[in-house]
Amino acid sequence: MSEPLPECEPPAGQQKASRPVDWGDFREHLATSEKDGRRRWIFARQPAGQWYRWRTWMSWVLIGIMFAGPFVRIQSNPLLMFNIVERRFSILGHLFWPEDGIIFAVAMLTFFAGIMIFTTAFGRLWCGWTCPQTIMMEMVFRKLEYLIEGDAHEQRALAAAPWSIRKAVKKGLKHAVFLGLSFLIGNTLLSYIIGSDALIHIITSDPRGHLVGLGFMGVFTLIFYAIFARFREQACTFICPYGRFQSTLLDENTMVVAYDHKRGEGRAPWKRDQRMELRRNEGHGDCVDCHQCVAVCPTGIDIRNGVQMECVNCTACIDACDSVMTKIGLPRGLIRYASLNGIEHGQPLRFTARMKLYSVVLTGLVSLFVFLVLNRPDVQSIILRAPGTLFQQAAEGRISNLYTVKVLNKTHRNLPLDFKLEGREGRVVVMGAKQFLVPMDQLAETSVIVELDPATLTGSTTQIAIGVFAEGKRVETVKTAFVGPRR
Ligand code: SF4
Ligand code: SF4
Repeated sequence: MSEPLPECEPPAGQQKASRPVDWGDFREHLATSEKDGRRRWIFARQPAGQWYRWRTWMSWVLIGIMFAGPFVRIQSNPLLMFNIVERRFSILGHLFWPEDGIIFAVAMLTFFAGIMIFTTAFGRLWCGWTCPQTIMMEMVFRKLEYLIEGDAHEQRALAAAPWSIRKAVKKGLKHAVFLGLSFLIGNTLLSYIIGSDALIHIITSDPRGHLVGLGFMGVFTLIFYAIFARFREQACTFICPYGRFQSTLLDENTMVVAYDHKRGEGRAPWKRDQRMELRRNEGHGDCVDCHQCVAVCPTGIDIRNGVQMECVNCTACIDACDSVMTKIGLPRGLIRYASLNGIEHGQPLRFTARMKLYSVVLTGLVSLFVFLVLNRPDVQSIILRAPGTLFQQAAEGRISNLYTVKVLNKTHRNLPLDFKLEGREGRVVVMGAKQFLVPMDQLAETSVIVELDPATLTGSTTQIAIGVFAEGKRVETVKTAFVGPRR
């Protein structure tokens, strides 16, 4: 679960720490559980500092995108939609259909390869800065909790206090707000899946006609409420697979939130008016053992124990320690973004052979993805003989077959389509209209009759090619079978 930490030696020429380094029993149990297995509730102190400010700004941007994604339209398509029910996806207003399965598969591979290289180089930057769970938990729910119940010590006192009107009001208000927010998040998730139009339709029409949709709204709301009100950091520790496989991706060159044990050990409390020279000569490092880094940690760990699976790289401990260092007049950065090699040997972050290999794979996948998207056909057609029909005798001795045509228009404009036989004499007639109009981003269906001169048939079944023309330009050629009399 945790990387082994190196032996801590005092700087050359100085005595060993007067207090031995106590790594504790943190490997024996999770920070969020008591030794007997019961949950230890984390009352994290509210962080403050430059990293927290930057993360707050970043979170507002991402929260805006997250809530607006299904509702913002680009050329009438949602900015983001992942309709797994109908297998229709919209990314930046571009619709992707089941027929684009290869593009989707390559996009998924690219995404996972991207995560691998990103994690190898930058550790769990994703978790701390962009993961929706961390953002919503730390930047929305936790902040509301601070607002209603106060900082960590007030929350702890409230939890321990006997039930009173004040406690009931605070707890009731908090959980009502959490439930309302969970409802909002649940509805947003639903709109990602079924589309914002369908969601608005469910909300605004007779509920008796949408019992399934309303059921999902309720289930999503309860799931999010359970996660943010009760489950919290356990989602990162127990459920998220990313946290679990990160240990296979991190190495000594990966950038992580790390404690500089060379500078910090041996720990000893700071004495007022203490002279640094004297402190060093006594074998003490810069860590004043104030536990501020532990107090702010939302997963309850002590970063001084080394890289741990529970660490979501939220930077709260960096801010807490920087503020302590500033107060006692020592350089900031005792806890900072660094690699193990950076701390051990002062090496700058390096682009290692492993990162280079991952980058080559990633570049290949990105190139393939771009190629597939750029060469994605504007329309995709299926032309099949109408089921249960045989050939018919048409005018002037020609033979005709009836076909069902399905066309998917992937463009953002309505396309009038024509069909022409390729490589042989004959004609294609669209039933009931001169042209077949396929609305933008829609799948449309029609019937066509193909008429051929029987002299051109090669047997009872002849392979024919039909050109699909949009605005006078051939966009596709579809092969199909034509049946005629036995020869
Ligand atoms: S150890 Fe630091 S960076 Fe990691 S989760 Fe705790 S506070 Fe956040
Ligand atoms: S906040 Fe800094 S000085 Fe205080 S215990 Fe943590 S690492 Fe040591």
